[in-house]
Amino acid sequence: MESHVHRRLLAPGALAVSLLLAIPASAADYEPGAPGIGDSYYPAYGNGGYNVSHYDLRLRYQPATDKLEGTATLLARTTQDLSRFNLDFLLDVSEVRVNGTKASFATSGEHELEITPKTPLPKGTPVTIVVRYSGVPSSKQAYGFTSWHRTPDGGVAANEPEAAWWWFPSNDHPLDKATYDVSVAVPDGTQAISNGTPQSVTSRKGWTRFNWRSDKPQATYLATLAVGKFDVTTGYTESGIPVINAYSEDLGDNAGAARASIERTGEIADWLAEYFGPYPYNALGGYVPNVTTGYALETQTRPFYSPRQFAQGPNVSVVVHELAHQWYGDLVSVAGWKDIWINEGFARYAQWLWSEHEGEGTAQELADHVYASHPADDAFWTVKPGDPGPENQFDIAVYDRGALALQALRNEIGDKAFFAILKGWPAKYAHGNATVADFRAYAEQVSGRSLGSLFETWLYEPSKPGAPAARDAKVVASRSSVVKAPKSWKKIAATNSVHDH
Ligand SMILES: [Zn+2]
Repeated sequence: MESHVHRRLLAPGALAVSLLLAIPASAADYEPGAPGIGDSYYPAYGNGGYNVSHYDLRLRYQPATDKLEGTATLLARTTQDLSRFNLDFLLDVSEVRVNGTKASFATSGEHELEITPKTPLPKGTPVTIVVRYSGVPSSKQAYGFTSWHRTPDGGVAANEPEAAWWWFPSNDHPLDKATYDVSVAVPDGTQAISNGTPQSVTSRKGWTRFNWRSDKPQATYLATLAVGKFDVTTGYTESGIPVINAYSEDLGDNAGAARASIERTGEIADWLAEYFGPYPYNALGGYVPNVTTGYALETQTRPFYSPRQFAQGPNVSVVVHELAHQWYGDLVSVAGWKDIWINEGFARYAQWLWSEHEGEGTAQELADHVYASHPADDAFWTVKPGDPGPENQFDIAVYDRGALALQALRNEIGDKAFFAILKGWPAKYAHGNATVADFRAYAEQVSGRSLGSLFETWLYEPSKPGAPAARDAKVVASRSSVVKAPKSWKKIAATNSVHDH
């Protein structure tokens, strides 16, 4: 939410006075920051008491041993009087400094790093946190899983909602977005891929250092690192955004299909911009490492794709999905993980629009198919896309019923209002966060309609909306032809394996 640290330039005398004034009468006013940011699904995720505005990560990674080491410098600002605060992290920390001075630290819980600065931190002041660390990410687990993908030639950090713990200390929640400089040294002949724009590549004594910059606020789970041997392609969108794609040299039979899909990134981004407004970042692309997982992820500016996404041939639809997230998920992020529908319902609906564009089935036909193909006793209908619960956060219902809800909205308010909302929403909450309730309020404002019962029926009812509701939403309920899947269905369904805890 907060994205800039405003530094006030003060003369040395004034600085001394302001520091004196900031020292409290009693340290008893100072309290530890909460170990979680307040997410209802994941109470321990993120932390309280401060906001980070920038991460500077200067790292070195050795593929042969999976050892990652380096220094993270965080620029933050306190939001309360702090005696102590937490970061989320799993690797081994050797030193922490707060505003230049060594701080004591300890680990707790599944992924907490508790930092106690030598002097307490007054509310509203800028804080610089330096963390020196090292470790073997593949040896670390939290809650019994890892988000670090070891590959034959390196490693990859990409997962949702957890990815950062394995490679940098952070306030790990979408509510606290920041800009990034990611600098990673790897042995010559190996590459380090991350988000944003490449700033420079330098080589010295057998190590090559890659420097990447993300100059717009980015959620921690959308930061990614991939080390390995990649073949890199470059180009530009029609609108002039530089595109950098990276393909593991080790994709085997999937190499052609992966490239035939992801090389269309610029074209797809330009097409999506017609619906969602201008592409929000100055960098674009995608990467396919040689991981054994099956999912894809909307890592900011440069989505992650598993080779398996292309095992059945090219799949442009998955590229549409991950690029749609650049607006719906990355530019406007969830305020809490219960709001996942404002990401996945829309990314799935973009795939339906692409299907319509390609003449492989209209969004209406896809919505009809979703409605007709799940009988009333199907567990599909028990998942509420508007609040699915952490165990169902990435359930297929969040996607398919979530997109069905958007078709119901489109039919209720008409194309003009619907597409105005699709384009207006990313601009309204740009670089910030929002909730499902915010979306409903915005849709009501733009359409001038009361939409409470429509949202209740399609997002929150834990059962199949009945025939009258389907009739109202102009969803075809029973015609046997709609049970037959539109042509695009298989490719869209091939993108379902988003998550794999
Ligand atoms: Zn998605």
